[in-house]
Amino acid sequence: MEHDFVMVEKEDGCSRDDPPKYLSEISLLVDSLADPLWSLNTFIHDNPELAFEEFKTHDALVKFMRSQDGWQVTPSACGIKTAWIATFNLGKPGPVVSFNAEMDALPGLGHACGHNLIAIASLAAGLTAACIVKRHGLGGKIVIFGTPGEEGYRGGKILLLERGAYQDVDISLISHPGILHNSPLVRTTAFARLEVEYFGKAAHAGKSPWEGINALDAVVVAYNAISVLRQQTKPDDVIGLAITDGGKATNVIHAYASCVCMIHTGTWSRLEALCEKVSKCFQAGAGATGAKVNITLTEGYKDHVPNRVLAASYTEYWNQLPNVPEPQIPPCEQLTHVPSSTDQGNLSYALPSLNASFAIPPAAPGRQGQPHSPEFEVASGTYEAFERALRVGKALAGTAIDVLTEPGLLGKIKRQWEQDMAAKAAGASP
Ligand SMILES: [Zn+2]
Ligand SMILES: [Zn+2]
Repeated sequence: MEHDFVMVEKEDGCSRDDPPKYLSEISLLVDSLADPLWSLNTFIHDNPELAFEEFKTHDALVKFMRSQDGWQVTPSACGIKTAWIATFNLGKPGPVVSFNAEMDALPGLGHACGHNLIAIASLAAGLTAACIVKRHGLGGKIVIFGTPGEEGYRGGKILLLERGAYQDVDISLISHPGILHNSPLVRTTAFARLEVEYFGKAAHAGKSPWEGINALDAVVVAYNAISVLRQQTKPDDVIGLAITDGGKATNVIHAYASCVCMIHTGTWSRLEALCEKVSKCFQAGAGATGAKVNITLTEGYKDHVPNRVLAASYTEYWNQLPNVPEPQIPPCEQLTHVPSSTDQGNLSYALPSLNASFAIPPAAPGRQGQPHSPEFEVASGTYEAFERALRVGKALAGTAIDVLTEPGLLGKIKRQWEQDMAAKAAGASP
């Protein structure tokens, strides 16, 4: 999904005192994976595949994970052709930490959302965390999920979640490239899609228009009602409309018309309220004209609720890794609002989640495109962007190792998640 930062807020109580564990070992392990991961990155980037059609990427990643010591790999997991699950488990009890690897590209734009880099960061992190577990005899389990179909509104992670893939998983870690800055505390928007059809009655527009019921008029009334509603929406609310069928001829009263509406907003509870208001506008179109209305609501992605305790670990590792190429993340992280959506949001309502944003350099001087632009597609295939993804992989691996080794940390993470969910239930926006 698209990343375009609009607002940051000061956050409290998010810093940690302990020095990061195994820092240089994690850094060296990720660096040792650079060659094979660069080949994979280039292969994925140069073979862009659309949502749920990531067959080449699925096969390449499954093959690669099967070549790694100690990993159990399930291709086409949970009945989803391009999903896969790789598990590293030495049998010693402990937390279950997971990473998501996205794979899909955009129609006509290739990897203009940089999901190749997301896959690479998660692979680097998962493989490195597993290596640390093995070398130091740690307890716990590492899981990497190949999560298809993030672009669009169906969401491979939602399917995996519904089919029980995350049932025994304690935390979910992922990252996403953007252009502006690095932040582990990313909030994204929730969205829903309404497909609306009006059924009227055809009649000759000149001879006997009074015998008809104009379905297009119903769309127009609804469009105008929503335009009026927009004056009183909140800054986070975005309502997009498209007329998908506005009738076939000018000399008939239109028996049928349809439109589609996308609603994005800051929280899931706000989304529900806004869907109700918008639905009433569509009903107003029916009421005004006498047309019958049929509204099909598809729930999209939930807003992402970032876990502050996980973010503190990530920040600690990110800032102390060698060769810092850019400004450090402030010790007390800031909350970054991103006006786009991801199915990682749905996971964040089911278990503690971290969705770290990272900046990649422009494709060429002065060619700094946003995600979902041709410039970003070029940028996401460069070695410089790949190096940033490896750095993210190091900080994600460190976060996972913190969870596996620091007594009480998982409990603290879960308590934070419970607080966030309770605040959400009470209508707040934590
Ligand atoms: Zn995207
Ligand atoms: Zn994306």
